[in-house]
Amino acid sequence: MGDTLRISCTACSFERELRVGKGLLYSKPGSYLIESEIPSKQMQIKLFERMEGPCAEVKAIREAYRCEKCNRLMDCMSVSIVNGKKSYKTKYRCPRCNKTMSAVDMIPGEHQCPNCEEGKLHVEKIGQWD
Ligand SMILES: [Zn+2]
Ligand SMILES: [Zn+2]
Repeated sequence: MGDTLRISCTACSFERELRVGKGLLYSKPGSYLIESEIPSKQMQIKLFERMEGPCAEVKAIREAYRCEKCNRLMDCMSVSIVNGKKSYKTKYRCPRCNKTMSAVDMIPGEHQCPNCEEGKLHVEKIGQWD
């Protein structure tokens, strides 16, 4: 089961929910999971191409992604594929400034608020999903 986190700013009214971790379907990620969780059609096609063949190992997990430039946070499914000698992992770009985002652990008080850039983010586990 995955966790639902609520992040909120200690200085402004910014608040967001993020789903991280693994749901039931994540243990054996197939085309259904990818089609429902990856918004970009282009990225879906890329993943399906890389998954072809009998020896592809596919792993999926939802992670919190953060933009290093503007601090924007998103929850995205990251998929990693090892297929023979080739390996691939999904990359996400910030919708605001187009910089590559990196997966981060949501540690309370560690990240800066993407809205006011003054406060730190409080993190609270509010539920689970599967
Ligand atoms: Zn704030
Ligand atoms: Zn950004």
